[in-house]
Amino acid sequence: MASAFGADWQTRHVATRVVEMETTPSTQLEARRMIELGDADGVLVIAHRQTAGRGRLGREWVSPDGGNLYLSFILRPRRPVSEWHQFTMMAALALAEAMEATAAVVVQLKWPNDLMIDRAKVAGILAEVADAYVIVGVGVNVNADLPAELAEAVSLKQAAHRPVNTRELLRRFVIQFDGYYDSSLRGATFEQAWAARLYTLGKAVRARVGEREIVGIAETVDATGALWIRTAEGTRISCPAGEVTLRW
Ligand code: ATP
Repeated sequence: MASAFGADWQTRHVATRVVEMETTPSTQLEARRMIELGDADGVLVIAHRQTAGRGRLGREWVSPDGGNLYLSFILRPRRPVSEWHQFTMMAALALAEAMEATAAVVVQLKWPNDLMIDRAKVAGILAEVADAYVIVGVGVNVNADLPAELAEAVSLKQAAHRPVNTRELLRRFVIQFDGYYDSSLRGATFEQAWAARLYTLGKAVRARVGEREIVGIAETVDATGALWIRTAEGTRISCPAGEVTLRW
């Protein structure tokens, strides 16, 4: 079957096999199923629509049909899976660059996992560990109309004022991510490039970790993706990427 996403390019690591689906509850869930079946390294799962797309902390990722991207890569890294935060960074950088090249927009990153255009969310990334694998999930608002309840969201089509070529975006993203992953296997880390695109840094923020709230200035990030906040008393507190909701 010809790929509706034009996925006929070859990569070294991240999309050695491509599984396309019309509809799935979530590509992350499909990826977990494939890991249970074995031999999942290098699989890219991609769907036209998700009925139960997920974001961080069990939140919903609204995933309508109509020319958007919903995908998950499965990788069995030869680096410790404890470094999985690097995958969020590589994916965010690769996706930001792919969007800018394909749609001529300016993309910024919001800590820890969102891609933004003019303060509105255009894409989200969810990296998860499953056994010895890392699953990197990506949802991008490309061309589909967004439901009215997503007030702080934007699509690439809205931002670019024209339809955006989903195949081209996918191709650029996958090839760029593959290159970053290849560099990571040779020891490269991505926190500095990632930090340079994070508009969160330098801002006054409120971070909620469970019932606890930390108020201060978002100062730096580290290799684990944690955000370091300096409070008014001068204490530096680290906020792990997986558990914190940030407001300002
Ligand atoms: P935030 O930091 O914005 O509070 P989050 O990082 O905690 O969000 P994510 O995992 O990035 O959460 O995404 C889930 C949230 O994103 C949802 O709660 C909803 O507000 C918003 N959202 C859901 N679907 C979309 C979409 N298609 N486009 C933009 N935003 C979305």
